[in-house]
Amino acid sequence: MITRFAPSPTGPLHLGHAYSALLAYDMARAVGGQFLLRIDDLDQSRARPHWEDQIYEDLSWLGITWDGPVRRQSDHFDDYRAVIDQLAQSGAVYPCRCKRRDIEAAADAPQEGVPRFGPDGLIYPGTCRGRRWQERLPSDALRFDLGKATAQGTPSFVETGPDHAGSHKVTRDFMTTHVGDPVIARPGMAASYHLAVILDDHATGVTHVIRGADLFEATYIQRFLLAELSLPAPIYHHHRLIRDDQGKRLAKRDDARAIAKYREDGLSPQDIRTMVGLTIA
Ligand code: GLU
Repeated sequence: MITRFAPSPTGPLHLGHAYSALLAYDMARAVGGQFLLRIDDLDQSRARPHWEDQIYEDLSWLGITWDGPVRRQSDHFDDYRAVIDQLAQSGAVYPCRCKRRDIEAAADAPQEGVPRFGPDGLIYPGTCRGRRWQERLPSDALRFDLGKATAQGTPSFVETGPDHAGSHKVTRDFMTTHVGDPVIARPGMAASYHLAVILDDHATGVTHVIRGADLFEATYIQRFLLAELSLPAPIYHHHRLIRDDQGKRLAKRDDARAIAKYREDGLSPQDIRTMVGLTIA
């Protein structure tokens, strides 16, 4: 088993991150597997070196050790671009110039029973479909044309987390009605989050993706892209989210629950384990 923890260095790690990292670490160590650390610094406008340093510090303090070198997404932008070029060669990628308000306007006239939002936000109605790859500008997003999908059969993925355990099919219909043509590169970025994580996990041999339940739906998009690239799917485990006293999911801005803050306050790594409901050290 190879698991990983892949935080973005855009703020302090909080209790939710501690749970995610400890769970992925424990699951790998329990079976003599490997645990990897990746820095998801795809969005260079938000990543900061001091948050990256803080990640190393927090994880070490929690007693987490990782195998092999740390992988940073910013070292692999050319790899992502090469895959996008490869998809573009087959005519499946087009530049999209739509701003959020354009998508809203085009997707207007909501119909009963038809969702407007999916795992990637507003469902894209395909406005820029048909734009040629050669016309792309640095300010464009790049989208994968669902109509050009070539993977045979219906891909599926196995989920072992508490809420959706079982096998899930990723039909073209689901993609059309819940996502629209998926973004594979955001404007000015080497790749979209979905494309980057599947390529990273594949490149590092990750067998089990362990992450928060908020990313369960995103798995459909990621599994779809894996199939289009003829890459195997890992097993997924989406864990429960750690919530604040009001029941809200913790966010980066919840500095009060930053691991570093608990440490300053004199709590021990074992206390953190207990707080997130993990007792075995
Ligand atoms: N980088 C992602 C995050 O910070 C986690 C990795 C993944 O989605 O698989 O939420």
